Amino acid sequence: MAVRCAALWLPLLLAGGPATAWERLAHEAVTRTALRALPPSSRAVLGPWEEELARRCMEPDDEAGTIPGERERHFLDLEAFGFPEPDLTKVPGPLTLTPDAARALLQQALDPGFPRDRARTGVLPEAARSQQRALSAALRAGDDAAARRHAVFLIHYVADAHQPLHATTRYNGIDAFQRGVHGAFEGDLVARCPGARPRYAAAVPAAEAEGAAVVLTALLEGHPLATTVLAADLGCPWTGKPPRPRCRAVPRARANAGVLACTHLEVIARERLERAAGRAARLLHAAWEEARAPAR
Ligand SMILES: [Zn+2]
Repeated sequence: MAVRCAALWLPLLLAGGPATAWERLAHEAVTRTALRALPPSSRAVLGPWEEELARRCMEPDDEAGTIPGERERHFLDLEAFGFPEPDLTKVPGPLTLTPDAARALLQQALDPGFPRDRARTGVLPEAARSQQRALSAALRAGDDAAARRHAVFLIHYVADAHQPLHATTRYNGIDAFQRGVHGAFEGDLVARCPGARPRYAAAVPAAEAEGAAVVLTALLEGHPLATTVLAADLGCPWTGKPPRPRCRAVPRARANAGVLACTHLEVIARERLERAAGRAARLLHAAWEEARAPAR
């Protein structure tokens, strides 16, 4: 679900952080792709839930207005931890952290005492961690209804962490005239451009098995990509080529047309969704393995 009307965006802008993320097409694709990528042991139990989980994939967004604290579980602004805002004058480089720096960042992101406005800057890592643990506990208890609900939320949060604009305070543009770039990337691009949709689940290292750390890794990958998306919205800089109408039926006068005209954004969206599917499968399987392990 994306809110495109500028008037409706205003309260969200004032509140800080996006309320939603990828639209249904992307969330459903990540859900199905993740479940089909599970190893046989966990797929035997979770695989048959595919239709239900795909149908319910937007519940976390749909309930963002009614569950207290839900809205901020869908993003994390890295600027709250000292990372600079997107700079559209430069080609962005990757955010590479040493293992120690990555651990320290994870601790800060999870620490309720770290000085930041958590409602404005997001709590996605702890949301992913708590859903993974709750899923494992529900599987262990044989509570399938609860497990399906937690699986829906876990997959959704992992997918949201791979939306590059969910890693920055500039989630809907640098300037007012860019408002709508968020929805154009996560909704229109995937809907209009088949090349933006996932084809399979990316391979994920076995070590990526803990929800909070995994989504933080995704957000760190996404922050420089957010700069690319925002710059593309202004007309595909850095490519040396003018935008071309790669995807069908893009009205020339439409705002944020740059997002739909730059072929490299299709590739970014597809890569993000394929990695989200791979990581969601990895976390689902880790929850399943934890549930089967002897109680400690
Ligand atoms: Zn969401």
